[in-house]
Amino acid sequence: MAGIYVHIPFCKSKCRYCDFASFPDKIHLAESYMACVYREMSMRKEDLKDYEFDTLYIGGGTPSVVDESYIAMLVTAAKKYFNVKKGAEITIEINPGTISAGKVEMYEKCGINRYSVGLQTAINSQLREIGRIHTLNEFVTCAKLLKGKNFSVDVMIGLKDQTADDVIKTIEVASAFGASHISMYALSPEDGTPIYTDYLNGELPDGDEVAEMYEAGVKKLEELGFFRYEVSNFAKKGKESRHNLNYWRRGEYIGFGVAASSCINNIRFTNTFDLDEYFKCILSGHLAVKSREEIDGEGQEEEFIFLALRTAAGIDLEEYKKRFNCDFTEKYSSAIAKTSKYTELSDKRFYIKPEYLFVQNSVIVEFMR
Ligand code: SF4
Repeated sequence: MAGIYVHIPFCKSKCRYCDFASFPDKIHLAESYMACVYREMSMRKEDLKDYEFDTLYIGGGTPSVVDESYIAMLVTAAKKYFNVKKGAEITIEINPGTISAGKVEMYEKCGINRYSVGLQTAINSQLREIGRIHTLNEFVTCAKLLKGKNFSVDVMIGLKDQTADDVIKTIEVASAFGASHISMYALSPEDGTPIYTDYLNGELPDGDEVAEMYEAGVKKLEELGFFRYEVSNFAKKGKESRHNLNYWRRGEYIGFGVAASSCINNIRFTNTFDLDEYFKCILSGHLAVKSREEIDGEGQEEEFIFLALRTAAGIDLEEYKKRFNCDFTEKYSSAIAKTSKYTELSDKRFYIKPEYLFVQNSVIVEFMR
């Protein structure tokens, strides 16, 4: 199984915590940018002709900020240039401040069947604080437009002045309005973003407070019928994100657009983060790859272990043997013994106990050389 990712790097304004490739002042370039993405796809067509793609993920930035006809053309281009499986999962990220009934109608028509909505928090003062353009009311309107459809909601924890009750309220709102999937991420203050100053000033919740919010969130999610299948991801039965599962299973993926990453044939390559350079490359008939790294056998194994241990299912021992031609339990017997308080070993799987998934890094490190 392989996935396609397309990066749409435009937003209405920059959130205070954002260090993604997004350019709020360049939205007037959206039409030319999309034309370049279609062209980049056509350039990759030949190389990927033997691949079958099970997912297409349109992320950003804010894909819902650009004209819906560009998105429809994008889905059409992906289906034209690549072998996109019948029944493929096709997701678009939506900001509740940039959605309309017309957009949802067009998305449905072109085959989009999954939505990822960036709510982050149901507390308006916190939304303002982190620089989101939408309010809780706008989320409610958006969720009503998506009624009966398969949609995920992003929830952030670790925001300034946020409490465990705020997290619970946010989850309750997302669930009440029909979310089938919830991603609950801890804010990561990145150097160079305005929120980093708040972090340096000690204004953000500390590690213990964030852990408390996470625990409260997990409890509420479980009560509401969402099961945890990855450290930050919770779904109703059968509603896991196939696109993300492919990443965690170390499947192959191809990325299009500025800053998009790919991993094909154990070669990881990433496009330039510079929008002008992206335009120049594509318009002159060249790919816009900026960095390229070949992953050797050891690297592949480390990635496989690292990614699998993020998931509730953990490492499939048979799959490990098939890929690396050795027995996981023999090779890592001492690390398994050392982490036994936090992990579980069955005939088929090795995984981190659900209650310790949040501190997975301290377990995973024992398996890295
Ligand atoms: S909407 Fe997303 S990509 Fe855009 S500025 Fe905010 S966090 Fe960044």
